Formats: sequence, structure tokens, C-alpha cells
Amino acid sequence: MTVLSNRVLEMKESATLAMARQSRMLKEQGVDIISLSLGEPDFDTPDNIKRAAENALEHGDTKYTPVSGTKALRDAICRKLERENHVSYTAEQIVVSNGAKQSIANACMALLNPGDEIILPSPFWISYAAIAELAGAKVVEIKADVNEGFKVSAEKLEQHITTKTKVILYSSPCNPTGAVFNKQELRAIANLMLKHPNIHVISDEIYEHINYLGEHYTIAQFEDVKDRVIIVNGFSKAYSMTGWRLGYMAASKEIASACDKIQGQITSGACSFNQTAAIEALDGNQVEVEKMVDAFKRRRTLVINRLSKFEGVKCPSPDGAFYVFPDISCYFGKSYDGIIIKNSEDFALFILNKAHVATVGGESFGDGNCLRISFAASEEALNEAFDRIEKAVAGLVG
Ligand code: PLP
Repeated sequence: MTVLSNRVLEMKESATLAMARQSRMLKEQGVDIISLSLGEPDFDTPDNIKRAAENALEHGDTKYTPVSGTKALRDAICRKLERENHVSYTAEQIVVSNGAKQSIANACMALLNPGDEIILPSPFWISYAAIAELAGAKVVEIKADVNEGFKVSAEKLEQHITTKTKVILYSSPCNPTGAVFNKQELRAIANLMLKHPNIHVISDEIYEHINYLGEHYTIAQFEDVKDRVIIVNGFSKAYSMTGWRLGYMAASKEIASACDKIQGQITSGACSFNQTAAIEALDGNQVEVEKMVDAFKRRRTLVINRLSKFEGVKCPSPDGAFYVFPDISCYFGKSYDGIIIKNSEDFALFILNKAHVATVGGESFGDGNCLRISFAASEEALNEAFDRIEKAVAGLVG
């Protein structure tokens, strides 16, 4: 008999991956499912990046790389950070990883001791809590609801800071809400860091380029706290490179070398030829990124328009990323086929079974009144999905 570790037994399965599995099962049974559950751009990786990978393979770029990534890629990342974010880092402060998710895990493992507290402004990305708990930390969720634009203020954060608080971790633009911290809001969080010199911020900026405001700020821009900020970013979203598994962090030398040490014992350096191609992603023509963002902008308008027709549903227009996070609690207590919808997971299942549209309940993102809908799908698919949801909702009883 196998007795699995408490670590894995206590871990929650990713709700997005669980929903993807469930809709795949229905698809295999021949059901025509429209999938709006995954955080994956529906575009192909731009050609110039693919050609760069082919070229790198052709030229024998197939060996182990340094754990932190090739010097050439780390230099390209430093140039990007200087050019786009106005922050200066040297190559020793960059650790390339197998995706932003790994960078977040590295940072949590490097910073958190069992019993330390990590504050997650909520709603938050599904994996944060599981990763922090793996590091033994206590997760402190601080919630902002739809009426607050899903943005937790610095005042609210401060009320929950204790002597054990070590890390604040957020994504901006945010998955699942699309909320974006502006410069003043980030300054207010930086001021909190000044008051509490033990606190670090892990700033997940993976949706940086998918920003409808046109301006992205990073808290690392404030020199007085920069040493305690870990910028996490990657190639999955902006360059539609989810399957390539490539991310990175920028941090103080001390934190970067701690992350290098952890990664060196677990996965080593990321894929060699992907790293060469990633230099092309950063330094090459950005026109494909702009096209993708324009398409996301059109889809955002479409989705917000369609949602506005649902009486009782509240949904701010997202400022970034490619998700909407409507409050659908007006449907709680209604029923279909004798099943009462009690929470967002029930509502997601109802939509899956009756409209054949896959979404994710908001519970695992920290807000059980909401539903996460990804608009990384064609306008045709989105319209069809909302037609089906409208029809299903009209059949609810109660
Ligand atoms: N951070 C956020 C907020 C995300 O939404 C995702 C992916 O969905 C990631 C990190 C992971 O990115 P990567 O594919 O680089 O691991």
C-alpha cells in the first residue's frame, strides 16, 4: 500500500486544470464544448520566434545551459527591463526558469519559512496559495470585491500585516479580474514596505503586455524598495508561448542566487534552444504582440456587451489580461433538472452541462460569487458561447 505524503494529500488540485480535464472528457464523448476555461492565448507563436528556435536547433544549441539561463538571454531580459520598465538589473540578478509559475515557486521557497505569513490580495491566481502552502507558509487572503474594482488598498493590506508577514504576492494585470495597479496604488504598497522592512513583494507581471490602459507600472520602479521586490515575468502570454515553458525573475543578487540554488537542485536550466528563441521574442519585431492585444481588446468589448444583457450580473471591464470575472451570485438558489445552484462551482457545472461552455468557478480564485471566463477565443466562439449561456440561464427555475 502506498501512503502519499501529507504535502500532496493536503494540496488542492488546480481548478482550471480540473475543469479542462472535465471538458476534455465531454469532448471525447462527442460533445461540442466551447472552452473558455484556460489561460492560454489562442494565437500561434509568432513566426520570427519559431524560426529562431529552428535555427538554434540547427546550430547545435542543444546542451545544458547555466541554471539561471544563458548569459545572452539574461542580457536581453536586462535590456527589456531597462527599455520597457525603466529598471536596471545586471545578468546576475536574473533567473530564467521553466515558466513564471516556477519563478513564483522558486521565490516562495527562497523566502518563506514554515509559519511565515504570505498576504494574497484576493481574487488571486489559483496556484499562489498552493505554492505558498508547499513552502509551509500561512496564507492570509485579503479580499476586494466587485464593488471595489477587485483592488485591495494599501490601508486594507496594512490591517493584516503582522510580525510574521514576509511576502505580499499579486499579479498586475490580475488573473482572474483584469485589475491593474496604478502608480499611486503601487507607491502606497511601497510605503508599507518601508514601514515594514521584513516584507517582500513578489510582483507577477506575466500579463504586462496585455494591458488596455497602455501603461504598465512595476513596484520595482521605486528604488527605495527595489531590493525587496521580485519581478516575475515570462513568455507564455505576450508571445503566445505557453508550451515553450519559459519565464524569469529579476531580484536582488541575494534572492536571485538563492533561487538559482533551488532551481539547480530541482530542474536545472530551461530548454537551450527556447532560450535563444526568447531573445528574438524580446529584441525582435513586436508587431504580432500588438495585433494580439488589439484582438483581445475587441473581444473584451464583445464580452462586456454580452454580459451587460444578463440582469443582476455585475462585471467591471478588465484593464488587462484576457479574463472577465462577473459576479453571478444572482443565480444562487435557482435550479435546473432539480439541482439547486448554491455557489460558483455549481454555476460553472451548470454552464458546462447545459450550455457546453467550460468556465471556472471563482471559489478557488478567492471569490465564490464570481465566475472566471477567458476571452482567449475567437469572436465567433465567444458569441456562440454567450448565445448558449443566455439560453441555458433562461431555463433556470426559481
Ligand atoms: N502567473 C499568472 C497570473 C498566470 O495566469 C499564469 C498562467 O496562467 C502564470 C503565472 C504561469 O505562467 P507560465 O506559463 O509562464 O508558467
